This record gives sequence, C-alpha cells and structure tokens, in this order.
Amino acid sequence: MTQKRFLAIVYCKMATTRSFALVFVFILCGIVLAPAEVTQQQEDVILSDLVRSLNATLEYDPLSHAGTITKAGHDVRFALGVPYVLLDWSTLKTVPSPYDADDSLRVKQEFVNALREFFQTKPGVSSKYLVKAIVIDPGHGGKDPGAIGEFTDFKLQEKDINLAIASRLAELLRIRYPDRAILLTRTDDSYPSLEQRVDMANTIKLSETEAIVYISIHANASFNKNTRGFEVWYLNPDYRRTVVDDETAKEKGQDIAPIINTMLEEEFTTESIILAQKVYQRMGKMIGDDSPGRGIKAEEWFVVRNAKMPSILIEVGFVTNRDEALLLAQAAYLRRIADAIYNGVCDFIEHFEQ
Ligand SMILES: [Zn+2]
Repeated sequence: MTQKRFLAIVYCKMATTRSFALVFVFILCGIVLAPAEVTQQQEDVILSDLVRSLNATLEYDPLSHAGTITKAGHDVRFALGVPYVLLDWSTLKTVPSPYDADDSLRVKQEFVNALREFFQTKPGVSSKYLVKAIVIDPGHGGKDPGAIGEFTDFKLQEKDINLAIASRLAELLRIRYPDRAILLTRTDDSYPSLEQRVDMANTIKLSETEAIVYISIHANASFNKNTRGFEVWYLNPDYRRTVVDDETAKEKGQDIAPIINTMLEEEFTTESIILAQKVYQRMGKMIGDDSPGRGIKAEEWFVVRNAKMPSILIEVGFVTNRDEALLLAQAAYLRRIADAIYNGVCDFIEHFEQ
C-alpha cells in the first residue's frame, strides 16, 4: 500500500535521528487527517514539467507510488496520496498530495511553491568546473544494423533501439541544459565511421576546467538466448591516451606535457567511472525490475578510448533474449531507459561541477 510503504521509508530514514519519535507521531496524525479526495484541476501542474523548470531530476517508482526530486544534492521525497513531503530525509513539510491524472503526476500550486522555496534556499552551484558539451553516440546505423534479434513473430535491430534512446536523451538534455552543446553523432539511419564519431567530440575546444561527456548507446546480443540485462562500460584505467594535443604541448613545454597528460588521464578515468556508476545506479532503479544489472565493466572500446573525455558505453539489454526483446520493441520502455540515462548524466554533472 502506497502510504504504508512511504511511511516505512520515512520511518527507516528517521529512525537514526533524535526527532524520530516526534515525527512518527506527526505521521500518525497525518494518516488520520489526510484528506482522501483529490480533484483534478486545470491549473494544477504536471510534476515532470515542474521538475524540468527547476532543473531538477525526478525518480518515480510506479509500484510504490513514491518518488524523489533531486537538485544539487538535495532531495524531496513524495508519495501519491500522502499530504506532505520529506525534505533531505529530515524535515517534513505539509503540502497537498500529488495525484495521478491522465497518465501524468500532477501537483497543486502549494506543492510547487514548497518545492521552489526549498530549492531556492539551497546554495547554488558555483564552480569553475563545467561540462561544456555532451556527445551522444547511437551505435551502428545505416548499412550496419548492429545486433539483431530475430523471432518467429518479430525482428529487432540494435541500430533502431540505439537511435530511439539517444534521440530522447538528447531532447531531455537540451531542455535541461539549453546553454550547452548536446550533440548526436547521427540523427537518422546513417553510418558515420567510428573515427567520425570520435572526431566530432574531439573538435570541441576545451579549457583545462571544461569537460565533454561522451555516451555511446548500444544493445547486446548473445548465443545464449537466456542472457539478459544491461551493462555500463568505462575506459580501462590501464590504457594511456594522449589527452593533451600537440598545440597545448608546445605551449606548456614538451617536457611537462607527458606529466600533464598522465594527470588528466587519471582524472578522466576517475570521472568515467563515476559517470558509469551514476548511470548504472539510475538504470537499476528505473528498469532493474525488468532487466537485471550485469555490472559496471571496463574495456578498451574504440569509441571511448579515442575520445578525450569521460566516456561510457551503455549496453541497454539483449535483443537475443525474447523477453528483453519484447521490452526493447516498446517505445515506452526505450523512453524509460533514456530517462534513466538522463538522470544519471544529470547526477554526474552535478557531481562534476560541485
Ligand atoms: Zn553495438
């Protein structure tokens, strides 16, 4: 039951604090006093629109009917039919409960105000570190279909899955970060070479405190029809790239260039791991019930190893597993995957720029 589950979460989180007894009494009062009625009104706001306008991220679990809105490391926890929100896992605030109407979550103006007020009082992000661009690479395309799932009643091509997810991811990121470059290595069924894909990212000029995030999206195949699940790969730390180009090396002096290179390389590798972790976590939350996480892995993939930036490669699932292929054939499931990657990228940017 929704309320019970939310309360259980609140209870667990609060149990370690001194004020938990008081809060629990408050929660009990809340149950008794909670108005059951939710009337849909035109002026109510769609929650996902609100979250976008706040530059926050939304994570919602339709099974428990509870969700978290996150911005700059601060959380607002809510649940359908529950007339308060939990701020940063410590403070309860009474608000009209969110409700579901026409397949979207809606909230009343008081909820909007509470959210704006909470996030406004939080210190803004002011950092010299900046993610300047995000390059999204939908793997394969054109003459190269990538992995193929062929069943008696339907057929699935990896290139189409990759493009659908990448397109939505780009769309979401453009809304969230209108002043940054969000690039797709292909926007249709074409086939840019691997070199072209990486070059696109490498031509963006960066200062020392700026970074490009590179995300390559793929779907998997296996001879074992039972294999299923998603994976996130990052660059193998043992691999040494030339991060500093010749021009910069001339400016800095040839002798120190290798040292800078090594330093930057370490940094980029760490960032790649963190990026992989953030995306992997969000995918687990969003699609983990349908598709098992197979772990975060390291490999010297061509697409990532030639890119001068924190880079990951996501294998969103196996087209050769019938159950997973049925999911991957659904636009709604691909949107969920894109939303999960989006949340992970936002988490990473927040981390990087703080
Ligand atoms: Zn692939």
